[in-house]
Amino acid sequence: MLSKTEESQCQPQTAAVEATAPGILFVVSSPSGGGKGTLIQRVLKRVPNLSYSVSYTTRTPRNREVNGREYFFVTTEAFQQMIAANEFLEWAPVHGNLYGTGRSQVMREISAGNDIILEVDVQGAASVRKLITDSVSVFILPPSFEVLRRRLVARGTDSAEELELRLRTAPQELKYYAAFEYVIINDDAERAAAQLASIIYAERARLSRQEPYVKRVVEAFVLEEKGTNN
Ligand code: 5GP
Repeated sequence: MLSKTEESQCQPQTAAVEATAPGILFVVSSPSGGGKGTLIQRVLKRVPNLSYSVSYTTRTPRNREVNGREYFFVTTEAFQQMIAANEFLEWAPVHGNLYGTGRSQVMREISAGNDIILEVDVQGAASVRKLITDSVSVFILPPSFEVLRRRLVARGTDSAEELELRLRTAPQELKYYAAFEYVIINDDAERAAAQLASIIYAERARLSRQEPYVKRVVEAFVLEEKGTNN
């Protein structure tokens, strides 16, 4: 056992290390209709201490979308002002609209030691990978073109032209799968959500991410051993 003095010295320091350890940035990409939205919602419900970065976009909201929940819907002018003010961690044109990740929310979360998921296209994933080298990227692969087409049609939110554009872009986006660290084949929503949750837990357990905390625990063992031998 640790002595009372050792306990009182060790506990606050251990807690401080945990609280100040930088959080993990998870970058999730897939073609439109790949099912990443549903997947992320499921994972947010089951994995504690995980938040979601709400992106900014110039596209018009779909039927049930709420400003500040799915996206912050802004004008092109407001978006360009944000670019000029360096307020984006990354941004990209996708399907004729602009999409961007607000820098402040993400940096606030990870520097407070909280994990956060970004949902971005393959260009956004490449930018974040360069900027935050220990981020974790996950590609969600729809099981087939036919399944992707059916999902987009069933969603019923896109005009015929938008549907066509999304289907045409998908094979181009899929070519970038090899740049990601993990790939989840989204043939079953529950299984895919369990896989994404497992990736998050596994990354949290990486030695490199826990090293300061692990060192403290090991040091406490060494102190205890010394105490026992004296
Ligand atoms: P949708 O309009 O279907 O919601 O999204 C279209 C595409 O934009 C999806 O591939 C989605 O991942 C991507 N996207 C959403 N938010 C962002 C963002 O902040 N940055 C980038 N680069 N892409 C985003």
